[in-house]
Amino acid sequence: MTRTTPPRPLDITEFFPELREHSATATRLHPRPGAPTAADSSVGGPLLWPAGETWPTCSDGAHHYVFRLRTPATVRRSREIYAAAQARADLTGNRYALTDEERAELPDFDFSEPRSVLNQPIPMLPVAQLYRRDVPDFVGPDGADLLQVLWCPLDHPEEGYNPRVRLYWRRSADVTRLLDAAPEPPVLNESYLPTPCVVHPEQIREYQYGGLLPEQLDARITAWEERIDEESDDDPLNYQFDLSLAPGWKVGGFANWSLSDPHPMDCAECGTPMTLLFTADSGEWQGSGGTWRPVEEPAAASSGPTDVVIGRGYALYVFRCPSSFEHPPATAMQ
Ligand SMILES: [Zn+2]
Ligand SMILES: [Zn+2]
Repeated sequence: MTRTTPPRPLDITEFFPELREHSATATRLHPRPGAPTAADSSVGGPLLWPAGETWPTCSDGAHHYVFRLRTPATVRRSREIYAAAQARADLTGNRYALTDEERAELPDFDFSEPRSVLNQPIPMLPVAQLYRRDVPDFVGPDGADLLQVLWCPLDHPEEGYNPRVRLYWRRSADVTRLLDAAPEPPVLNESYLPTPCVVHPEQIREYQYGGLLPEQLDARITAWEERIDEESDDDPLNYQFDLSLAPGWKVGGFANWSLSDPHPMDCAECGTPMTLLFTADSGEWQGSGGTWRPVEEPAAASSGPTDVVIGRGYALYVFRCPSSFEHPPATAMQ
């Protein structure tokens, strides 16, 4: 099933035609729980990984910030239990409740596996796999038709307490023999374990974050927002959240810097200002009235289909160096 972003409540370029010069396309991925294979684009699905290539690991050991360590199996089972309880409530109309057996199976809220488990290299986790054929805004080295995003599913203090991201570009035709079974991290921060999702890519247009527009233009947009807010009884329209930048998992487009205001993202290797490659987000739209909820989606649908939560419901933006795909990515949480 396709997913279609509703038209914006109004076309901002009718009021500010110069915004066309500060515009870019993005591909919303619209991840939804499913059973992707290595041959599919996915979020949290299996990767097309060559049998002969070492699986990436993180060796930060004691440097990880530890909140609660859970095994992937425990997290998956807990999600099954919550989903079953929710399905019962939906079916019967009764209040959402866990059975005694279910409650007994869930770990205590504060339970954590021992820290010592981290005294070994931690295999990284598949976050997304994107084929060029599926993603209109795919970018990669010449000949590459596959981007694989992995992360270490723990908090890295020296990287803003975010998961550490690694990117791999490949030519899928080169992968003739697949790795049998990908190693899994023994423990993780459950917020960083994506539920396997198939994707429904859709290309949209975005406009640059206000604070990164020419100052005059940004000031005129702010004044316009205040004016239409006074003139209308409807919910206030916000340039940042309603008219310019899509929330949710996406490729390309711009970052929404509304948490901290923009800070420069320059390549650690060569200093070139970086561009947004990929976004992992806690939510696909805001609330039940969110204007970014696809038209096909029932109002009661979950806005967090991947179960990934970044910080207190933020997004993790992954930037790349435009000079070289070999240079390391950088991340920002917003
Ligand atoms: Zn790590
Ligand atoms: Zn660079």
